[in-house]
Amino acid sequence: MSARAIVVGSGLAGLFAALEAAEQGVPAALISVRPSERAQSVMAEGGINAALGEDDSTENHYNDTMAAGRFLADPNAVCKLTAAAPGIVRRLLDLGVLFNMRGHDEPELRYFGGQKIKRTVFAQSGSGKQIMSAVIQEARKYEARGLITRYDRHAFAGLAVGDNGCTGCSIRKAYSGEMTYLHGSVIIAAGGMHGLFGGTTGSLDNSGAVTAALFRTGVPLANGEFIQYHPTTAAMPGKRLLISEAARGEGGRLFVLRDGKPYYFMEDRYPELGNLSPRDVISREMWSLGEQVYLDLTGLPDEVFRARLSDTLDDCLTHLRIDPRQNPIPVAPGVHYFMGGIFVDENHRTAFPGLYAAGECCCQYHGANRLGGNSLLGAIFGGIAAAHSALADGPQAIGGEYLPPDTEQSAEDRIATQTIVRDALGIARDRAELENGIATLEGLPGSMPLLARAIMTGALERRESRGAHLRTDYLEQNDTGFRKTTVVSYDGGTISARFENIPERR
Ligand SMILES: Cc1cc2nc3c(=O)[nH]c(=O)nc-3n(C[C@H](O)[C@H](O)[C@H](O)COP(=O)(O)OP(=O)(O)OC[C@H]3O[C@@H](n4cnc5c(N)ncnc54)[C@H](O)[C@@H]3O)c2cc1C
Repeated sequence: MSARAIVVGSGLAGLFAALEAAEQGVPAALISVRPSERAQSVMAEGGINAALGEDDSTENHYNDTMAAGRFLADPNAVCKLTAAAPGIVRRLLDLGVLFNMRGHDEPELRYFGGQKIKRTVFAQSGSGKQIMSAVIQEARKYEARGLITRYDRHAFAGLAVGDNGCTGCSIRKAYSGEMTYLHGSVIIAAGGMHGLFGGTTGSLDNSGAVTAALFRTGVPLANGEFIQYHPTTAAMPGKRLLISEAARGEGGRLFVLRDGKPYYFMEDRYPELGNLSPRDVISREMWSLGEQVYLDLTGLPDEVFRARLSDTLDDCLTHLRIDPRQNPIPVAPGVHYFMGGIFVDENHRTAFPGLYAAGECCCQYHGANRLGGNSLLGAIFGGIAAAHSALADGPQAIGGEYLPPDTEQSAEDRIATQTIVRDALGIARDRAELENGIATLEGLPGSMPLLARAIMTGALERRESRGAHLRTDYLEQNDTGFRKTTVVSYDGGTISARFENIPERR
C-alpha cells in the first residue's frame, strides 16, 4: 500500500488538489504538459463568484447557479459550492491575491452574466493571473518540503487498473517519450476539451485526450452536449479571442445595425437582465439574428478601462487593432467552456474506485449552462473536494495493469475530427447533422473521434432544447423527459446513452 495522490493537470483544480493532499501530509505528484504558469486558469479574466455583498446570500448564489444551469446540476453539489465560496475568496486573500478592493479587507464586486447582484470578485481583467501566481507560490512551499513533486512536460498516458479500481497511471515525458509508472489515487484535473474543437477561446493544451482515454477505458461521460458558446469572442488565427463578460458587467452593450443606427437588442428583448443575460440566452439570440453584432464600450469612463478592464483594453488594441474607447468591437459566439465531462458524483468520485476528477474536465456544478465566474470557483472547490475523497478512501492496493497508451492522432486526423465536431456541435444542432457527424467519425481511428462520437450520441439522444443545447428539431425544453443527467458509456465496443434522475436537494 502506498498513500500518494497523483494529480493530472496543474491548473487551479490540480494545484488545489495537490495542496489539499500535501497539507494533510500525503505526497502528491503533479503532472502537466506545461508548467502551471501556462495553464488555462491563468487566462481567466473576469473573476470568481462569492456571495459577499450586503444584499447577497449563498442561497441567492445557489438559486442563480441552478437557474442558469436550467436545473440540471446536482443541487447538493451546488449547495456546497456556493456555501464555500466566501471562505474560498478569504483564503485567496490570505494567500496574497491582489483583488481590486473596497476598503481595507473587503474585495470589490462586479456584475456578471445571469446574476442581478454584484457577486464577482476580480483583479482588474486579469483575475486568473493573480490567483494562479499566489497559488503557485503556495505550492512551492510544499515542493520545497518534498510533499509535492512536479512532473512538468509530462502527458498522461494511461490508467493502471486492478480488481478494485484504479491503482495509478503512467505518464510520458515530452520530447524523449520516456515512460514513468506511478502508483496511487489518481485525480484528473486536465481541463476542458478545447483541442477536440480547435478555434476556441481556451488552451489547446487541454486537448481532451485524458477524458478520451478514460472514456475508452470505460469511465462514463456526462452532459457532454452542453458546450458553452460565449457571446463575445473575436476571430484570431487558430483561436478566438475572448472579450470578457466583465466588459458587459462594467456597462458594455450589444447591438446590431438597423437603418444605420444601433439597435440594442438584448436591452429591448430581455429588459430584466439585458446585456447580462446568461450566455446561452445571448448566444442563441445572436445566432437567431444572423447579423454582425457589435459590443459597444465607447460609453465607459477612462477610469473603468484603467482600473477594471486594462487587460481587455490591451487585448483589443494589440490583437484586434481596435480602440474600444473609440469604436465598437465586432463579436460573435465562440466555443468557450465545457459544462459536461468526466461523470463524477457530488464528492468528485468517478465510476472507478481510486479515480477522481475536478475542474473543467468533469461535470458537476454547471448543468446546462455555466454562470461566468463559477468555474474558477468550481475548479478550486472541486480540487479540494476530490483530494478529500481520495484521502478519505485511503491508499490504493499495489498492483493493477498499466493500460497501453493511445496512439497519437496524426495532424490530418486531428483537423478532420475538429472540422466534423464543429459542424455537428454548433450552437444549433439537429438529428441529421448529429447522425452525419457520428457516421463520419466512425471512419477515424483513436480515442478522440470516439470521445466526439460519445458527445454527439448524448446530443442526439437529448431530444429537447435546454441551456447550451439547442435542437432545431426539438425547440422546447422537456422537463418530464430530460431534466436528467446524460450519461454516456463505452462498453464492449459500443457507445450507449442513458438519462439519470437529478438528486433531490437534502
Ligand atoms: C479566456 C478565458 C477567460 C476565462 N475567464 C474566466 C473567469 O473570469 N472566471 C471563471 O470562473 N472562469 C473563467 N474561465 C474558465 C476558467 O479559466 C477554467 O474553467 C478554469 O481555469 C479551469 O481550470 P482547471 O484547473 O480545470 O483547468 P486548466 O487551468 O485548464 O488546467 C488544465 C491542466 O491540465 C494539463 N493537461 C491538459 N492535458 C493534459 C495531458 N494530456 N496530460 C497531462 N496534463 C494535461 C494542462 O497542462 C494544465 O496544467 C475563462 C476561460 C478562458 C479560456
